[in-house]
Amino acid sequence: MRHSIVAGNWKMHKNAQETSAFLNELVNDLPNDKEVEIIVAPPFTSLLIATQQLEGTNIGVAAQNMHQAEGGAFTGEISADMLTSIGVDIVILGHSERRQYFKETDGTLASKVDTALRHNMRVIFCVGEELKDRESKQFQNVVYYQLKDALFHLPKQAWENIVIAYEPVWAIGTGLTATPEQAQEMHQFIREQIAHQYDQTVANNTSILYGGSVKPENAKEIFSKPDVDGGLIGGAALNAKDFSAIVNAI
Ligand code: 13P
Repeated sequence: MRHSIVAGNWKMHKNAQETSAFLNELVNDLPNDKEVEIIVAPPFTSLLIATQQLEGTNIGVAAQNMHQAEGGAFTGEISADMLTSIGVDIVILGHSERRQYFKETDGTLASKVDTALRHNMRVIFCVGEELKDRESKQFQNVVYYQLKDALFHLPKQAWENIVIAYEPVWAIGTGLTATPEQAQEMHQFIREQIAHQYDQTVANNTSILYGGSVKPENAKEIFSKPDVDGGLIGGAALNAKDFSAIVNAI
């Protein structure tokens, strides 16, 4: 069901000790009177610490990636079963850094989504155009094909476990934020494509998050847009005060 979500993608930051100290601080800082789902996505080595430390709190834990195979000879990879065995049942898939640096394609991502859903996990699926796509006015086309090729094979009921994160690549870690109007335009477009592929109910029930240089100073305006249901936060999620302030902006 569509609801507000603020998720922090830590990327390759925070070792075990830093995770523990940070989560202590976060639990104290976070508001608990907000109707918002709060998620942190630490690196693999901190997931077990996070699930243990956050047990009984209102903060969920997500992985930043996983492999599509059930298991086998895939040195260095982590499976869905390994994640769920430590209580991690949310996974971020399709982040632009995975696409860009690790050559993940929409075809691979479609398999990863299938595997995650088979394991009853929820997926935060990232889409977003590069600067050249925005400049050439292809941005909607690019995002449409990312949705189509990785998600539109799913049956309607699978969408209960899909959250979309729109992250324009040119706004990630650059300090450049999409304007609230640019975010709204794309979020509305994404919702329309889901409605077109499935129906209006599926579209209305899907949470769509914005990501890309969200900070305490700009969060409120972005979150106020009608099709923006929250955020996927990078840099500002590494600081407990900033992350809490962003949660408060919902
Ligand atoms: P920044 O908030 O650091 O721009 O990162 C956004 C992001 O990539 C979240 O997944």
